[in-house]
Amino acid sequence: MEKKVRPHCHVCMKEMKMGQEVVMDGAFKGIIHANCNYLTAIEIEDKGLFEEVIGRNPRWFKQFNHLISH
Ligand SMILES: [Zn+2]
Repeated sequence: MEKKVRPHCHVCMKEMKMGQEVVMDGAFKGIIHANCNYLTAIEIEDKGLFEEVIGRNPRWFKQFNHLISH
């Protein structure tokens, strides 16, 4: 049974949703909302829409595939 993981922004603790602007933390590999971002440009590994960032990062894609494949 595949474990269903619901991604949360660790700044505001709200659930991530499709179509939201997000940034990926290059050090901790966490995803946070662009609106919640506290990182400097050099610390940001990737940014864009939630589904785009996940699609470009295999580790997240594997974990959240169930959220975007339909
Ligand atoms: Zn947030």
